[in-house]
Amino acid sequence: MNETVNKYEVPKKEGSVWPDDICPAYTPRKDAIPSLKNCWYCRYADFHLKEERVLEVGICKWPKKVME
Ligand code: SF4
Repeated sequence: MNETVNKYEVPKKEGSVWPDDICPAYTPRKDAIPSLKNCWYCRYADFHLKEERVLEVGICKWPKKVME
């Protein structure tokens, strides 16, 4: 899952994000692994984690939290 790694200067805000991407607004969700900081573990990312099929490319919902 690390074919694309982007460091954004600002949140993607409704844009596509790959699991390994990150931006300065990164805020870990409750079950995030502390050593891994990326969009996958970000509260603002929507990867459909609560649904049957997770998305390979998520949507950044910043400033709206998707996960706690
Ligand atoms: S999902 Fe989080 S880390 Fe990724 S671009 Fe959006 S705010 Fe930044």
